[in-house]
Amino acid sequence: MVGNVPIGGGAPVAIQTMTKTETANYAATMDQIHTVAAAGADIVRVAVPREQDAAVLPQIVAQSPIPVIADIHFNYTLALKAIDAGAHCVRLNPGNIGGADKTKIVVDRAKETGTPLRVGVNSGSLPRHLLELEYTNPVEALVTAAVETVELMERLDFTNFKVSMKSTSVPNTIAANRELARRIPYPLHLGVTEAGTKWSGSLKSAVGLGTLLADGIGDTIRISLSTFHAEEEVKVAWEILKALKLRERGPVLIACPTCGRLQFDMDSVVAEVERRLEAYEDPIEVSILGCAVNGIGEARHATFGITGAKDMGMIYSKGEPLKKVPTEHLVDELFAEIDRYYAAGKRVVSDERSVAEAREWLAENEDPDAMTPERVAALEAAAARALDEEESPVAGRRFSRA
Ligand code: SF4
Repeated sequence: MVGNVPIGGGAPVAIQTMTKTETANYAATMDQIHTVAAAGADIVRVAVPREQDAAVLPQIVAQSPIPVIADIHFNYTLALKAIDAGAHCVRLNPGNIGGADKTKIVVDRAKETGTPLRVGVNSGSLPRHLLELEYTNPVEALVTAAVETVELMERLDFTNFKVSMKSTSVPNTIAANRELARRIPYPLHLGVTEAGTKWSGSLKSAVGLGTLLADGIGDTIRISLSTFHAEEEVKVAWEILKALKLRERGPVLIACPTCGRLQFDMDSVVAEVERRLEAYEDPIEVSILGCAVNGIGEARHATFGITGAKDMGMIYSKGEPLKKVPTEHLVDELFAEIDRYYAAGKRVVSDERSVAEAREWLAENEDPDAMTPERVAALEAAAARALDEEESPVAGRRFSRA
């Protein structure tokens, strides 16, 4: 448990972020903690590199709406102060805290107070005896360092910890965590360190952490992005967990990729819908289609959706047309329908005449023969399935295409 947040043992994957403020700046730090908590962070980590940061920790821990992890490097006395400050967890890398003796002092205090630790290793600071191995096999070097850390904890008769291995390399992060998950029974914290800007860092994290999470590996995650806005890290983490259906939070927005059939400014409509959906907490699915040639098509399961066209568009719900609307009012009308749905106790409210008009509009605009990207994809998928069946052992031909 980190505060009231369970870690590992089948608990939901917990989302962490780290404040980017000087921790000693109490007002700025608390401000950021409230912002990340509102964005859905389960746990927040604060850097404690100096005495003045440790000094403000008791107040931060007492006021924070979510559990606080103190991030300590090099200085074991700061780790002791963080524990005494009531930090819900302390992160330290035994490799840089000044040796096994200093680690023991911190672990003993953590035992007394029941404070969990996050222990780990960074690819950039492996112990000296693993440097050669790091050169020939960086993954094995990272895993060996992590296992040695775990063994040290066990020798100190301490098991209230989670483990992290940080690397800037996505393939190494994936390979090392897969191997470590096989070798130790403790919860794992996942992250790709120094992932990069919001764009590239989100992608690297989605690939690296997403692969591991899809394998069932990882108990807490942190997305590292080069931005002062820590809440962006939290939003990316949520998108990864939502995409894998590991957790639900807020609406899911689906939009077609657009193509030459598009006749309205879909970019701004998608951005506006995304912005307005942030006010909703329920995991409804909202879909935006750029045109009506496919009918409602793959958006059939969406709780609500719009399909646009030059002058008129349509709002639909769960595969059924609801009403046709002038394009410029589509977004407002969509949210009016969503609000009506909640006001009616999550029931879609429809008006017969509007539904009939919408059906008529859809019939006029739908083109079952058009080769849209969606239909091409469906044809390709059907062709691949047919080929698989033809080549399957059941059909008595070859064993597999691969
Ligand atoms: S054909 Fe498909 S991708 Fe193109 S605008 Fe219409 S819905 Fe979007």
